[in-house]
Amino acid sequence: MQPHRTLIVAAHPDDEVLGCGGTIAMLREAGAPVRVLFLAEGVTARYDPSQFGDPKVIAQIAQRNINAIKALALLGVAKADVVTAQRPCCRLDEVPLIELSKEIERHIRDFKPQRLFCHAPDDVNVDHRLCHQATLAATRPLERGIQAVLAFEVLSSTEWNTLKPFRPTAFVDITATLDRKVAAMAAYEGEMRAAPHPRSGEVIRALATYRGAQAGVAAAEGFALMRGLDL
Ligand SMILES: [Zn+2]
Repeated sequence: MQPHRTLIVAAHPDDEVLGCGGTIAMLREAGAPVRVLFLAEGVTARYDPSQFGDPKVIAQIAQRNINAIKALALLGVAKADVVTAQRPCCRLDEVPLIELSKEIERHIRDFKPQRLFCHAPDDVNVDHRLCHQATLAATRPLERGIQAVLAFEVLSSTEWNTLKPFRPTAFVDITATLDRKVAAMAAYEGEMRAAPHPRSGEVIRALATYRGAQAGVAAAEGFALMRGLDL
């Protein structure tokens, strides 16, 4: 694994683990600087807007962000490299897209990533799709330095769009870090479910095994290359 400076743009805390948790751990083991940028919190989709100010809901958002820091610490990412967000979950369609793009651009200028990972374009979740759109705008090839932009798949969203299956074209061997990926998901207390729900240890391992088979390794994460330069 080359130690590329890597920026992960994820809609909600836990998407980064499902999408590329094994890769994050591989990158950190190789000594790569990794920053994770979230665009929304991952809680309030389960509540009515009238409840957003409820102290119980506010506490859940804070806990989800604490869990993100715990999960990413298991993958080797320091708290200072985790950028959480307060935008309401599953309501990024109420935010001007340019606001999201400009935030991503700020991190590109500041962090100077060589590689950037973000959501795939056809996820069921609206925030995921907008995260993809905003990243496309933010990574338009005006600024030098980004060598590859890659889309990840997120179980319980990407595969639920059955007519538009995810087609990975690039793979990372995560055989050595799959256990840590599953442990990092478990750090998001309450987000894991029993199999056959996609957010279960069994299904996370099954997908890694399948993607691994596509690449000739025991376990892999698959990515769709959105743009590459001199790869
Ligand atoms: Zn999400």
